[in-house]
Amino acid sequence: MGFDTDVLPSGEIFVGGEWMRGRGADIISTFPADRSLNRVVAGASAEDVESAIDRAATAQAAGWGEAKAQERAAVLHRISDGIAAAVDRISFIQTRDTGKTLTETRALAMSAAGTFRYFASVLETADEDATVRRADTLTLSLHEPIGLVSAITPWNSPIASDAQKVAPALAAGNAVLLKPASWSPLVGLELARIAEAAGLPKGLLSVLPGAGSIVGEMLVTHPAIGRVSFTGGTSVGRGIARKAAEKLMPVSLELGGKSPTIVFADADLDLALAGVLFGIFSSTGQSCIAGSRLYVERSIYERFLDRLVKATEALVVGHPFDAATQVAPLVHDDHRASVEAFVASGIADGGEVLAGGARPTGNLYDRGVYYLPTIVAGLPASAHLVREEVFGPVLTVFPFDDEEEVVRLGNDNHYGLACGVFTRDTPKAMRVGRRIASGTVWINTYKQFSISTPFGGVKESGVGREKGRNGLFAYMNQKSYYLDLGGRPHPWARIG
Ligand code: NAD
Repeated sequence: MGFDTDVLPSGEIFVGGEWMRGRGADIISTFPADRSLNRVVAGASAEDVESAIDRAATAQAAGWGEAKAQERAAVLHRISDGIAAAVDRISFIQTRDTGKTLTETRALAMSAAGTFRYFASVLETADEDATVRRADTLTLSLHEPIGLVSAITPWNSPIASDAQKVAPALAAGNAVLLKPASWSPLVGLELARIAEAAGLPKGLLSVLPGAGSIVGEMLVTHPAIGRVSFTGGTSVGRGIARKAAEKLMPVSLELGGKSPTIVFADADLDLALAGVLFGIFSSTGQSCIAGSRLYVERSIYERFLDRLVKATEALVVGHPFDAATQVAPLVHDDHRASVEAFVASGIADGGEVLAGGARPTGNLYDRGVYYLPTIVAGLPASAHLVREEVFGPVLTVFPFDDEEEVVRLGNDNHYGLACGVFTRDTPKAMRVGRRIASGTVWINTYKQFSISTPFGGVKESGVGREKGRNGLFAYMNQKSYYLDLGGRPHPWARIG
C-alpha cells in the first residue's frame, strides 16, 4: 500500500478553520482487522461546537452566500481535485478506520470526488424561475442559502456520506458543521484538510467528532442552525426529527433499512445470484440498502438456495488490504456482538443456519472482528431477525408462490429504503417495483448508485431525498419576488 499510520490525521479536530485539540471526551479509532490503534482523537466539547458555530456564522456572512456561482463552483472543483489526488491516502485512512476493503474505500473516495464535481456543475447550471405572469408584475422565485447547516453522518461509508451533504450545502452558499460518527472520525478530518488546501474560506467547514449526545444534540438544537441533514439509525433520526419540530426546522433523514430482494423463476439466475450476494454481503452487510430479506419463487427455491449457499461459502473472507478479499471485518467488537445476538435470536425463533452463523477461526481471523457471511431459513415473518436491521452479513430467505404474495411479504416491514427485483418480465418488474414501498428499486441489479439519481427512503427509512439536481435546492430557502410593472398606485388606496 505504501502508507503507514503516519499518514492518518493527527488527533486534532477542525473548529472554524483552526486545528486544535478538542476539549471533549477522547475518541479511540482502531483498525478492525487487528484492533491496533489508529489515533486517539480529542473530541469536540460543547464550547468547541459553540465556537465553530460562531465562526461559521461570521464566515458565511462574510460573502460565501453572496459569492457568484462560478466562484463557489471553483472551490468545489478544487476540493474534488484534492480528493482525487489523495484517493490512495483517503482509502487507506478509511480502511484503517472502518475495516472496509481498500477496493471499496477507493470507490467511495472516487465517488466523493465525483460528488463535489457534480454539485459544482449543478450550481453553475441551475436556473432560477420567472413564474408565469398573472398580474402587472414580474414574478421571480429565487433560492437563497439557509446559512448554517449541520451534517451528521454514520460510520459505514463516511467519505461518501460526508461528501453527499457537504458538497451541496457548500455549493448552496452555506457554512457546514460536520459531525462524523465516533467509530470513524478520521476520514472527515482528512476531508477538512483537503478543503482547507483547496482554499475554502476559513470557518465555512468545521469537522467535529464527538459524542452524539453532546455534539450531535447541539448541532440540532442550537438556534443558529437552520437545517440538519442526518444519515444514521432510525431511532436517533426520530429523536432529531422531534427536536427539529420544536424549532420548526427542516431536516432530511436517511435512515435504516430491511430491504427485500425478489427472485422470480423466470429471472436470469446468474444475474440474480450475483445481485443477491453483492446486495447483502458486500461491505460485510454494513450497508443501509443491504438486501437482507430474500424471497425466491417456490419452483426454483431449492435449486437457487443450493447455488446461493455454495457461492456464499466460497466468498473470500479476509484482510481488508488484500485485493482478493470480498468480506472484510465488521467495524467494531460491539457491533459484532450485536450481529451475533441477532443470529442467536433467529435460531431461538426456529431459524435454520444454512451458511455461516459463526466467526471464522485461524490466526488472521482471531486478531480481527470477523464474521462469516450467514444465511438463515425457515423463520416466521414476525421474527426479530426478519423485521429489524442487522447491519451485518446476515441474509434471511423465504419461498413465495405468486406476485400477490411476494408484494405482501415485501411490504410487511416498517422500513422502506430499497428493493431488488430479478425477472426477465419487465412489466412484471415495474409492477412489483411500483407496489413495494421503497425509495429505490433495482431491477436485475442491486446496490448501484449514481449521484445524479435522488436517494432516500419511505416509511421508517427516512424523510427527504439527497443527490440529483434538486439536492442543491434542498440546502436553500426559496423566496418569491413580485416586481410592479404597472406603475399605478393600488386602487384600494384611492390615491391619485
Ligand atoms: P447512529 O444513528 O448511531 O449514528 C449516526 C450519527 O448520529 C453519528 O454521527 C452519531 O454520533 C450521531 N448521533 C448519535 N446520537 C445523536 C443525537 N442524540 N443527536 C444527534 N446526533 C446523534 O448510526 P450509525 O450506527 O453510525 O450508522 C448505522 C445506521 O445508519 C444504520 O441504521 C444504517 O442503516 C444507517 N444508514 C443509513 C443510510 C441511508 O442513506 N439511508 C446510509 C448509511 C447508514
